[in-house]
Amino acid sequence: MTETKKIKEINIEYERVRVVSNLKKTKSRCSGCQTTAEFISIPIAIQIFEITESLISNLANQEIIHLRTGINNEILVCLQSLLLAKESF
Ligand SMILES: [Zn+2]
Repeated sequence: MTETKKIKEINIEYERVRVVSNLKKTKSRCSGCQTTAEFISIPIAIQIFEITESLISNLANQEIIHLRTGINNEILVCLQSLLLAKESF
């Protein structure tokens, strides 16, 4: 007699929610997105997405994420492109 094994598979997907107080966002036109997007600073992006500066640099070089220069010459990252890129890191 053949025994049939019943295999039950349970996939658990979860999302982490990060709360960042005093998140400074700048809204402006993103040439990469061709629309108005929110930009955040590199240190904030590193903190929220738990990524490194070199990964940001790599993604920007591949034009996966979009960068622009802020008013005080700081480098800002397009939040929308970061969220889309998040799938790959
Ligand atoms: Zn963008």
